[in-house]
Amino acid sequence: MLITGGGRGIGAATAVRAAGRGYDVAVNYVSDRASAERVISACRAWGVRALAIQADVSDEADVTRMFEHIDTEFGSIDCLVNNAAIVAPMSRVDSLDADRVRRLFDVNVVGTLLCAREAIRRMSTQHGGRGGVIINVSSAAARHASPGEYVDYAATKGAVDTITVGLAKEVAAEGIRVNAVRPGIIETDIHRESGMVDRLEQAAATIPMGRLGTPDEVAGVIVFLAAEAHYMTGAIVDVGGGR
Ligand code: NAP
Repeated sequence: MLITGGGRGIGAATAVRAAGRGYDVAVNYVSDRASAERVISACRAWGVRALAIQADVSDEADVTRMFEHIDTEFGSIDCLVNNAAIVAPMSRVDSLDADRVRRLFDVNVVGTLLCAREAIRRMSTQHGGRGGVIINVSSAAARHASPGEYVDYAATKGAVDTITVGLAKEVAAEGIRVNAVRPGIIETDIHRESGMVDRLEQAAATIPMGRLGTPDEVAGVIVFLAAEAHYMTGAIVDVGGGR
């Protein structure tokens, strides 16, 4: 299993859970090598093979190199978790600039598609593969649309939902299932990037279950979609405490 952005947060929890289920894992990160190394140590403690791979998912050459590295080390890939993403400081649309919007779409959307392309080239029965699973990490922001916070980030996650549905249908007959999880507000570092940290308690009050989610609670659903959901494809599963 390759988990993009697997060094921290939801991706890290997914890597460790998947290792616990017996998956060999490749943990992608972009700059925080130390965190990725800690995750692969935790994975190896389950007796599986684990690899940390630096790559910027928005960079085509990096993505190609990352999959070639997995070919060399593991020989094949059964599951891709498209988890890496960025957010940006809270801003109204009338204050946005093009560089910010492009970077969000480059990482969250172009990165998702590039990794999916490389996975399909290896998994699809049309390409001589044995099938596989792709899980995209979307966001409840795709539904709520984040007015006054980051409509642009929300739009990248709307795109992830659309990619999930279209790709699921495109490759269903080639042995590949494609699903998504749509986390609500989860306790990770990502809220530092947006400046939401101070507003998390307030946000928790809007969640029917009355609390934020944990990375492991999302990871459990991702690993279920990978390992158990044999007749599910094109599904988008909300993991948001009822919101
Ligand atoms: P996080 O704690 O900020 O971790 C993000 C991970 O993505 C890090 O490992 C980071 O690498 C990696 N990353 C960032 N840009 C990258 C790039 N260009 N190439 C490769 N890796 C990159 O985030 P998180 O909260 O766990 O979020 C994970 C996913 O859940 C994202 O898709 C996010 O949109 C989604 N989500 C999160 C929440 C939430 O409340 N936390 C809610 C809804 C959806 P480094 O460690 O090297 O920096």
